Amino acid sequence: MLTLTRTLKQGVTPGKDVEGFTRAMLRYLHDGRNWTAFYASLPVVRRRWGPAKVTLAKRAAAKAKLPQYGVGGPALEKAMRAAGAFDARANRLLDEYADGIKPKLVEPNQGFQSLHQSLWEAYSIGRRGGLSDLGTFNPDSRLPSGRASDHSVYPAYAFDLGFDPDTGWANEPARRVALAIAGRPEIEYVILGNRIWTNDGRGWHSYTAGNHANHIHCSGVR
Ligand SMILES: [Zn+2]
Repeated sequence: MLTLTRTLKQGVTPGKDVEGFTRAMLRYLHDGRNWTAFYASLPVVRRRWGPAKVTLAKRAAAKAKLPQYGVGGPALEKAMRAAGAFDARANRLLDEYADGIKPKLVEPNQGFQSLHQSLWEAYSIGRRGGLSDLGTFNPDSRLPSGRASDHSVYPAYAFDLGFDPDTGWANEPARRVALAIAGRPEIEYVILGNRIWTNDGRGWHSYTAGNHANHIHCSGVR
């Protein structure tokens, strides 16, 4: 499991991932003396990739028989993971950094619990793109065929995002959102205006059942 989300080198923004990676390097090198100094220093120092980290990374890379660039990247991470250098605390520091840079989720009007968790991110992309919430769960929702829709289960496997003016595919913010969420592995289909994207390899094609000039419908994989 690789959890580093960026290459650690001089000049990057300080972060908890620097501390986690350094912790793993010190364990990997069995370097007790620098370990003591490292944990005696302030968090702001532990989380900055300065000259001391460069030196450590070169030593760790030498031990792993990798080029000694003085950076923390996937190759060194892989070698150190194979040697068991990442303990629970090192992994947690990397995860906490990764969580901090994730775009924030937007809660549906009916609450997070009204929408299946697999769709929270796609829904949030739409809301952050300026679209409005037209509903997640709706027990009465039916497909044009009369069958129960993905809105009718709880939590819903569908959401609707509204926009104005109701120009369907020609509405630029709506089109941008539709293109951003179509193609994600958790999405079954997306309808906007007279077009539909389906996850069966056909991509975007014509949609003739109408009724989507003012909103995007998105269904998730069940
Ligand atoms: Zn819908």
